[in-house]
Amino acid sequence: MDCLFCKIVSGDIPADVVFDGERTLAFRDIAPKAPVHILVVPKVHYPDAATVAAADPALVGELITTAGQVAADQGVSEGGYRMIFNTGADGGQTVFHAHLHLLAGTKLPW
Ligand code: AMP
Repeated sequence: MDCLFCKIVSGDIPADVVFDGERTLAFRDIAPKAPVHILVVPKVHYPDAATVAAADPALVGELITTAGQVAADQGVSEGGYRMIFNTGADGGQTVFHAHLHLLAGTKLPW
């Protein structure tokens, strides 16, 4: 399957990885929209977050737990952060491998 984030998971495409877990991987977004902008993905391919939730609800929890751990590692837990799952084209999703955006490091505008 020709999936960008599957290739990052497999190591075929390089990424700035900040967390490598059993079932989740976190790496810096290549075009950050905030001082801290990290993507958390399941290592197994699912097209979007709702599909992950339907197939493996525990894995959604692991994505959020990973984001919380990464936020702590990045020193932004206290200041706060935002977690976003863009879902589908109208939701702004452009890469169809489920991913959680972790945004932090500034007062987010909305
Ligand atoms: P979305 O628009 O919600 O599907 O988010 C996809 C995100 O992937 C965007 O924020 C992109 O900047 C990011 N992105 C695209 N290619 C790469 C890459 N090779 N490494 C890291 N992040 C990427």
